[in-house]
Amino acid sequence: MLPCPFHMLTGLDCPFCGGQRMVVELLHGHFAEAFWLNPGLAIGAPLMTLWWLKHRELTSNAALVILAISLAWGVIRNLVNIAPPA
Ligand SMILES: [Zn+2]
Repeated sequence: MLPCPFHMLTGLDCPFCGGQRMVVELLHGHFAEAFWLNPGLAIGAPLMTLWWLKHRELTSNAALVILAISLAWGVIRNLVNIAPPA
């Protein structure tokens, strides 16, 4: 696994931290484990894929929305302990 430079420098999770481990878990069919490694990415990536399949272009407004949501997710995941239910 490639280490995240943002996490190495700050100790905080970036919006994409856990993405590589999520893909590995998905490839092993462990969907719940994959989801909890990065819930924002698990929800956002399929939605972005569906959106892109429909529109086939990325307008600057859409890019700004995606950037804002990614940044918000990056802040939220470091403020709130998001963990699987016990
Ligand atoms: Zn990261």
